[in-house]
Amino acid sequence: MRAWIFVLFAFLGSTGWSQDITYARDILDKLTSPGMHGRGYYKKGDKKAARFIKREFRKNGIHAFEGNYFQKFDLPINTIRGRVELTINNRKLDPGQDFLIAAFSPGMHRTFTPLWLTGDSLDAASAEHLHEKYDLSERIIITGSHHKKLTRGNYLNAHAIILKDEEEPLWWHVSNGREQADHVVIDLKKDALPEGGVESVEVRYRSRYIEKYRTQNVIGFIKGHAEPDSFLVFTAHYDHLGRMGKETYFPGANDNASGTAMVMDLARFFGEPGNAPAYSVAFMLFAGEEAGLEGSRYCADNPPFPLSRIKFLINLDMIGTGSEGITVVNGTVFKKAFGCLQRINKDKGYLAEVKVRDESCNSDHCPFYQKGVPSVFIYTRGKEYSEYHTITDMAEDLPLTGYEDLFGLLVDFVHSFAEGRKK
Ligand SMILES: [Zn+2]
Repeated sequence: MRAWIFVLFAFLGSTGWSQDITYARDILDKLTSPGMHGRGYYKKGDKKAARFIKREFRKNGIHAFEGNYFQKFDLPINTIRGRVELTINNRKLDPGQDFLIAAFSPGMHRTFTPLWLTGDSLDAASAEHLHEKYDLSERIIITGSHHKKLTRGNYLNAHAIILKDEEEPLWWHVSNGREQADHVVIDLKKDALPEGGVESVEVRYRSRYIEKYRTQNVIGFIKGHAEPDSFLVFTAHYDHLGRMGKETYFPGANDNASGTAMVMDLARFFGEPGNAPAYSVAFMLFAGEEAGLEGSRYCADNPPFPLSRIKFLINLDMIGTGSEGITVVNGTVFKKAFGCLQRINKDKGYLAEVKVRDESCNSDHCPFYQKGVPSVFIYTRGKEYSEYHTITDMAEDLPLTGYEDLFGLLVDFVHSFAEGRKK
């Protein structure tokens, strides 16, 4: 009989774990699909993703604060829309593969004469000199990555193409799209340039600057069985970069469909009957992180319950690897919690290493930490995957090496933290 029970439990245990990664994989596939438009600001990708998360929360028995899973707020954003074309000497290049238009660029339909800028340095004086020498409104500067700062920082204030070496990935960012500039900047793969020189550069795409783009955090919770007024909180940002025009989107599998999947998976787990810990657990999925921690800042300023009731907050951002373990930002500040994570990890033999890192305002824990909420930010480490802010950060390639170990570690941490409340 006893042996039979053991076998039964072993069976339940093992199916439980395999279900976790299946659920996470399913969420990753959905969040990174073309229909979610990169969970950004063109074609309402953020809203589609938010509705999906809400449906899953509801299905898994997660409660909403005051009957509403959504916390709405506005942010300023410039969007690149429609067909995006870059034609060099009558040859059309491939958006996303060959080039990216910087998120701050204004809409444009123009043909430029190129102006090559070579040499290693371009100081303020020579930039000014350039404006005296040329009518830069008619020109597009072509230069290397070393001049990036001058053009990006609105300092040279001229249209520019920044050439990227083969090994340099085309990274996109939307944090620089909070304002619309009056010049276009294009990142272009060097090997996409035609042989024999550039005669003309035609740039054509539309843009719209939206001063108040309405987006939303998605927030839910489960009730603790002993001290429901105290909260443990899991956070992650579900937004990504969205679309650069209608053909190019950024899937953002590692950044941060991975963290979103973990928070939704934890919500599903703790929402099951019998799994609720002593404290309540809140699940906060933020929008607007890529635009500059907008969602988490709004939530920290307008929390659904007093921040003083948060016993501990764990933020997850980019957890798709894990062969080398995890890093815990703020681990040096919250030594006891960090020690607890390390102890559990060692006892259970989960991840290769739980590494400590000092404080850093590099993800959504930061606005809460700045308001005195005890919080850490966890990301995984490993060389098995390095896509970041590219069109190739895709779910099917994401290894999720440490996913199940991290899931176990976080569940154990919640129970051990809540049990330790009277000690
Ligand atoms: Zn990012």
